[in-house]
Amino acid sequence: MKIFLDGKFVDEAEAKISVFDHGLLYGDGVFEGIRLYGGNIFRLEEHLERLELSAKAIMLDLPMTRAQLAEATCETCRRNGLTDGYIRLVVTRGIGDLGLAPWLCVNPSVIIIASKIALYPPEHYENGLAIVTVPTRRINPAAFPSTVKSLNYLNNILGKIEAHQFGALEAIMLNDQGYIAECTADNIFIIHRGEILTPAASQGALKGITRDTILNLAAELGVPAREANLTRYDAWCADECFLTGTGAEVVPVVKLDGRQIGTGKPGPITLRVLEAFRKRVRVEGTRI
Ligand code: PMP
Repeated sequence: MKIFLDGKFVDEAEAKISVFDHGLLYGDGVFEGIRLYGGNIFRLEEHLERLELSAKAIMLDLPMTRAQLAEATCETCRRNGLTDGYIRLVVTRGIGDLGLAPWLCVNPSVIIIASKIALYPPEHYENGLAIVTVPTRRINPAAFPSTVKSLNYLNNILGKIEAHQFGALEAIMLNDQGYIAECTADNIFIIHRGEILTPAASQGALKGITRDTILNLAAELGVPAREANLTRYDAWCADECFLTGTGAEVVPVVKLDGRQIGTGKPGPITLRVLEAFRKRVRVEGTRI
């Protein structure tokens, strides 16, 4: 595998960063997870825009322009002979000393890995996923914005560990007020009386690119969709529920905290959205 590392393509074994990189020492950096479908990168511009905004929020000057990042991303796919896969684009603060001071880190590092993706097992797309709510709360967005896709994922990792302890593959994380924020690595949607609802970023959600795609598709399908404050009760008593993410795509949820959702099978609106999403990723995108 060839990895893009600071302007060069290097073998996997040579793709190394310093132990003084603040991405490692402090999780100081930003990243994107991006999908390649049939030789087209899905929503590349949107991912690069979110990367730029994440970097801006943590006052990290990206060392490459959007055009350069786009070209490097495409070239990483080409060099690895990929037509379908998952791209991880990482920008670390770079090498500094052992203190926090980011201003001592002069050169941010840019890493692009293009590889395969392990989705949830296929039966979950057909039969739906059983998820739980975990005790760990999502970080208050007033302390650190959930809209920044940073390298510091420990809050989500604690949620993931708890999900695993409960035997679930994914879990709802509440915000500090007890409203649903999102899942550990996916956004969440519920359907109530024909309306698609999802928590706002202000409730602790990442502004997911897949989430945004679903909101657009809903409008095209003529299904009303909006952001809303959601409680666990709303999700337990929803007619349908599904999760979205670049890796997960659209995955139906049929059980939450031991309660069956709707009929216990992926619901009709979820299936329409899932089908529309699968069609969309096949026709949209940046040719590599
Ligand atoms: N929330 C979190 C915490 C995530 O890490 C992700 C990405 N895996 C998402 C939501 C979904 O965002 P996207 O659709 O942009 O992948």
